[in-house]
Amino acid sequence: MIKRQKILITGRVQGVGFRPAVYRIATALELSGFVYNDTNGVTIELQGNEKKIREFISLLKYDTEKIPLAQIKTCNTFDIPVVDSDDKFIIQESDQKGTPLSQVTVDTATCRDCLDEMSDRKDFRFGYPFINCTNCGPRYSIIKNIPYDRPNTTMSIFEMCDKCAAQYTDVTDRRFHAQPVACAACGPKIQLTDNKGKILQEQTKKVITETARLLLEGKILAIKGLGGFHLAVNALDNRAVKRLRERKRRDCKPFALMTDSIEKIKEYAIADSLSEQILKSPESPIVLLPKKKNNAIAPAVAEGVNTFGFMLCYTPLHYLLFGQGIEVLVMTSGNISDEPLICKNGLALEKLGEIADAFLMHDRDIFRQVDDSVVHIIDNQPVLLRRSRGYVPAPIIIDQTITKDIFASGADLKNTFCFAKRNQLICSEHIGDLEDARVYHHYINSIEHLAKLFEVKPEIIACDMHPGYFSTQYAHSLKGKNIIPIQHHWAHVASVLAEHNIDETVIGIVCDGTGYGTDGAIWGCECLIASLENFERFGHLEYYQLPGADKASKEAIRPLLSLLKKSYDDKFALGKFAWLLERIEPDIEKQRIISEQLEKKVNCVETSSLGRVFDAVAAMIGLGGYNNFDAQLPMALESIAAENVDEKYQFKIVSSPNQSCCIDLGITIKQIINDVEKEINQGIISAKFHNTLAAALLDMAKHARESTKLNTAALSGGVFCNRYLLNRLIKLLKKEDFKVLFNREIPSNDGGISLGQATIASKIEKSKSN
Ligand SMILES: [Zn+2]
Ligand SMILES: [Zn+2]
Repeated sequence: MIKRQKILITGRVQGVGFRPAVYRIATALELSGFVYNDTNGVTIELQGNEKKIREFISLLKYDTEKIPLAQIKTCNTFDIPVVDSDDKFIIQESDQKGTPLSQVTVDTATCRDCLDEMSDRKDFRFGYPFINCTNCGPRYSIIKNIPYDRPNTTMSIFEMCDKCAAQYTDVTDRRFHAQPVACAACGPKIQLTDNKGKILQEQTKKVITETARLLLEGKILAIKGLGGFHLAVNALDNRAVKRLRERKRRDCKPFALMTDSIEKIKEYAIADSLSEQILKSPESPIVLLPKKKNNAIAPAVAEGVNTFGFMLCYTPLHYLLFGQGIEVLVMTSGNISDEPLICKNGLALEKLGEIADAFLMHDRDIFRQVDDSVVHIIDNQPVLLRRSRGYVPAPIIIDQTITKDIFASGADLKNTFCFAKRNQLICSEHIGDLEDARVYHHYINSIEHLAKLFEVKPEIIACDMHPGYFSTQYAHSLKGKNIIPIQHHWAHVASVLAEHNIDETVIGIVCDGTGYGTDGAIWGCECLIASLENFERFGHLEYYQLPGADKASKEAIRPLLSLLKKSYDDKFALGKFAWLLERIEPDIEKQRIISEQLEKKVNCVETSSLGRVFDAVAAMIGLGGYNNFDAQLPMALESIAAENVDEKYQFKIVSSPNQSCCIDLGITIKQIINDVEKEINQGIISAKFHNTLAAALLDMAKHARESTKLNTAALSGGVFCNRYLLNRLIKLLKKEDFKVLFNREIPSNDGGISLGQATIASKIEKSKSN
C-alpha cells in the first residue's frame, strides 16, 4: 500500500550529516519526499510502500551506524494525504521561519571508517594526520562565525583539491558537506620544531617517527591536538614524568593518560563495559578508572589518588604516533598552572618553550581552545566532572520555551557560563578560575564568541549572590539589563532539575566547598526545599568559624582548629593536641594566632562548608595539611577509604520547630581523634567518616520528607565529585524509597552553577510574564 507520512524529529539532528543520511536511506528504499531542518529539529515527508516507510523509521531510530553523531530525542509520525507525481527524494533548504539553533556541533573523535582509510595504502589519505568526515573531526574548535561553512572556519585558507571537492559535493558520499575535509595534497600539514621554533622535520612520515623517538627517549613534547596543546611524555618513564612536573610546576595534581586501545588501558586500570563504552564514544573523554595493583605506570603520574584518568586517541595524529611503538603517554593540558589552555603555535612556543623539548605542530588553527572532558562512573552511569571537548556546545533541551534570551554568568571557580534561548540551554566549556587575569580575559572573549555563534541577545542576566565574585561584577557591568542574583546552592539544585527536565519542588541536598548564603555566612552543606521559583533552607551542617578567609581553603590547620575548639569546647587546649597539631603545622606561634583568632572571632566567618571538614579530617589522619590544588586533601581522603566497611561514627541531628535542622559533627570529630590516638588504620577511619556523612545526610533528607511530604532528593555540589560518598548516599536514599536525582550531564561542582542560574532565571521570568 502507498502511504505518505510526516515525521518530526528532535534531538541532536542538525550539523551531524542527518539530512544526507536521510536522503541515502530514503533513496535506497525507493521512497520519495523531502527533508529539511527547522527550528525544532528535522522534518521529513516520506511517500511509498508502507512497509518500507516502517523500515526507514526503524533504521533511522535504531541503526546508530547510519548517523553515528545523531541523538534522536523524539520522533513523531503522522499520516498525511498522498501527493500525486511525487517520485523523487530531495533535501530542501532550511525552514525560513527561523534559523535552526544548534548548527554548531561538537568536536568528535576520529571514526572507524576514517581510521581504516588512513591505514589503507591504496587510499589517497593513507597516513594523513587530518583525515575526517561528516561523522568525525573538528567542529566547534574551528568555527569562527556562522553559518557553519568552510569560509567561516579556520579551514578557509586551504583550498580543496578536486578529489576532496568531489566528495564534498556528492550527497551520497560520507564527506558530503564535511567542512574540514582535506587531504595531503590540499590540507593542513604537520611539522616538528625545537623549543625555539626551528624546524627539525617537515615530511609527515618523518615528523611522526622522530616525535615518537623523542618521546620514547624521555623527552617532553608539546603536541597540538584538536582543542589545544598537550604536554606529552612517556608515562612509563618516572624520571621523564618527574621532569615534566618540575618544569610545569605542577606538584601533585594527577596527569591524564592516553593510549590507543582498551586492551592497553586494561593493563594498568580496571575498565568495566560501561567505562569501555564511554572511552570509545565519539566524545572520547578522560574516564577515571580504578588503578590496577602493581601497574607499570610511573608513580609520579597520579600520586595520592586511587584512579587513573585515561582517554583513547581521538585524532588521526594521535593514532599515527601510537603506531610507532608508544605504549602510553601522559597528555596534560598545555598551559602554565591555571592559565587557559594554549592553542596558538606562537603562544605555545613562547609559553611552553621552557617546558617542552620539542613541538609537534600543525597549520590548522584552533579558534577556540577546548580542554579534554572528564567523566567518572556513579551508580552505574557516566557522570561528567569537566564538560568540554566532545560535549560543548551541545545544548540541553528543556520543555519550557524561553521568551527572552538569558545569560548566566556562573561561579568564579571552575567557571562555565550559560545562555538560554527558546528551549535550549547552551553551556560553555570549562573556562577555569576567574581570579586569574588571563582566564578572566578568556571568559569575556568566550561570552562574546558564543553569543555570536548562537545569535543570543541576552535581556536577562543571572549571576551568583556573592558580591565579590568576578562573574557577579561582570554581570552588573552589563548595564540596563534585568539582573537576577541567585543563591549559589539553590543554583546547584536547579542544575539537577534542569538536566533532568523537571519542574517541581524537591529536597535539595548540596554538599559543597563554599558559597555565599542569604544570611551573609558561607554556606556549604545544605538541605534546601527548592523549586525553580524559590527555595527555603530546611537544614545545614552546624556553623563553625573559619579563620583567615582565603587561606582557610588551603591550610587545613584552620578548619581543624576550629572544629576541635567547637567539639571540645572548654576542654580544648592547644597543648592537649600538640601531638596532632605539630604534624600539620609545626609553627606553634601560627597555631596560637589562629587559635586566638577563633577565640576572639577576628577575621573569621561562620560556615557550614563540608569541603573544609574533609580537609580537617584528612589532616587529622596524616594525609597532609595543605591543598596544593582544589580538593587535594578531600581526594586523598576518599582514595584511601577502605572497602566493605559499614561502621560509622556517631552524629547528632539538632532540630527545633522554628529553627532549621542542623547536623552536629561534634561527637564524630571526637571519635575520629580517639581512633587516631589508637592508631586505627587510616583507610578504616576514612570509610567510617564517609559513612557518617552519608548517614547524616540521609537523616536530614528523612526529616525534610517528614515535614514536607516531598519524596524526590536532588543531590549536587562539589563534594559530590566524591564517588564513595555519592554512591553510598544514593544507595541509602533509594533503600528508603526516595526518588534520587543527581548531576550527570553537567558537573556537580561549580561548573554546573551557570546552568542552574539560567534555569531559575527563565522560570522567574516566565512566572512574571504570566
Ligand atoms: Zn570519519
Ligand atoms: Zn584534497
